[in-house]
Amino acid sequence: MSISTISQDLKGSLSPNCSILVDPDSDAFKDHLRRWSSVGLQTPAAIVKAATEQDVAVVVKYAVEHSIPFVPVGGGHSLWSTIGQDGFILDLSLQKAIEIDKEAATVKIQAGVLTKELNVAATEAGFCIATSNARSVRVIPALLGGGFSSISPIHGLGIDNFLSARVVTATHGLVVASPTENPDLFWALQGAGQAFGVVTEVTVKLHPLSTLGAEDGKFWTFTFIYGQEQVQAVAETLERVSETLPRELIGMALMAAPPPNFKALLEISIQFFGPEEQARHVLAPFFDLNPVNQTQTRISFDQISDSTDHLDKKGGYKYLSSTGRRKISATKLANGFRFFADAVDKHPELRKSMVGTSFYNPSRMQEVPDESTAWGHRNISAWVMAFPFTEDAETFPLAEDYAREFLGHVREEDPEKIASFPNHTRERPAHERYPGAWRLERLHALKREWDPKGVFPQDFFNHLMYRTQKIE
Ligand SMILES: Cc1cc2nc3c(=O)[nH]c(=O)nc-3n(C[C@H](O)[C@H](O)[C@H](O)COP(=O)(O)OP(=O)(O)OC[C@H]3O[C@@H](n4cnc5c(N)ncnc54)[C@H](O)[C@@H]3O)c2cc1C
Repeated sequence: MSISTISQDLKGSLSPNCSILVDPDSDAFKDHLRRWSSVGLQTPAAIVKAATEQDVAVVVKYAVEHSIPFVPVGGGHSLWSTIGQDGFILDLSLQKAIEIDKEAATVKIQAGVLTKELNVAATEAGFCIATSNARSVRVIPALLGGGFSSISPIHGLGIDNFLSARVVTATHGLVVASPTENPDLFWALQGAGQAFGVVTEVTVKLHPLSTLGAEDGKFWTFTFIYGQEQVQAVAETLERVSETLPRELIGMALMAAPPPNFKALLEISIQFFGPEEQARHVLAPFFDLNPVNQTQTRISFDQISDSTDHLDKKGGYKYLSSTGRRKISATKLANGFRFFADAVDKHPELRKSMVGTSFYNPSRMQEVPDESTAWGHRNISAWVMAFPFTEDAETFPLAEDYAREFLGHVREEDPEKIASFPNHTRERPAHERYPGAWRLERLHALKREWDPKGVFPQDFFNHLMYRTQKIE
């Protein structure tokens, strides 16, 4: 069976609004292939734009029966939602419904909904929700990988608010997964969800805007900019302050080399969900370090991802990779930032790259028992991130080498404690993404039940296990 016959074969089975793009030279096809990153970009044989859940079910059944590889695509921010000529893309962007139940404080979200769209709808209805930090990441894929949010220190991860999902699986077709229906599958969807099917809809808990520290739901953001000579002092302060962070605060220490002089600068940016006086008290040590620039604004929940808009643009060669730490180490932080500053000084082509560390109080996330979700990083209180970024493919390997070396320096010393964020990387070994042998065993068992042929990501767990051991 050839993929070229897909339009012919499925004619009559798909909804009127479903379309199949097969001409790679057409504007529509090209437009769909524009991704957040051009790293590893491939051209598929077709792009199937499924307009309904039923379309998804029909297309997945067809692909499984005919052994045609395919990949569902959300916002295209990962490196793995791309496929070559032997397969097709299952595009879900037409499925945009957001249905808020104010009474129950829940929302039903379809697979095409973007983070910003949901944040705007939730705010209009008087609620906030644990969504990712980038406007055009799609809500569902981010949630399936854990769903870390700026409001996670208060309301938990996306998966801690996840109530149920509708999933088209390879073996059982369309099913519901929730704590009461297919609970094992629901467990897997909470952190390892991208490997178990196409999730067409999720129901997620909402929280009143007033839980963000003010009746109108508005909250404070602060930025502090420091020069390179202040990095050591800032790192020491951050290590000290991070030991007693209130849940109301989430922060990012970001090093970038912006124009006009492209010298590395350190920015501490804070979102604070509480009164200004409390914020100023907690942040006093950062004010005391005499930043070269300092700003503060008050914003509403629908604007929460706006500060990362410059990172969210499509095009160029880039990715996000990260390692988790249980505690911030001032030495590692300062050395890492110096390493970055030297790299951008030496190689102007790396100037768009960045490194950063997000820091927060993990106690809210730790209220959820570790074994209750496939996600296993509730003891992490800082994610150290590398963001290699170049404009052209030729220089990208250099940026990648630096990013790997940077993360190598900041990883936990004990190999057992090395943590990798599933939403950022599939390159690192599975036990770093899914800690605990029992967790991987459970995921493997579930994979055998729900996707024995590996229709959805095969290399998802331990590369070594999966490359040498077939799941049968
Ligand atoms: C700038 C930036 C900021 C980010 N911020 C955060 C953050 O704050 N918190 C966080 O947790 N993560 C964050 N991430 C990581 C992001 O959540 C993941 O990369 C996510 O998977 C990307 O979502 P996407 O919509 O772009 O998906 P894609 O790249 O399109 O898809 C990601 C994976 O999910 C699969 N997939 C897509 N749709 C579905 C579906 N409906 N059902 C099943 N599988 C599906 C794809 O096949 C692919 O394997 C960020 C990434 C970037 C680049």
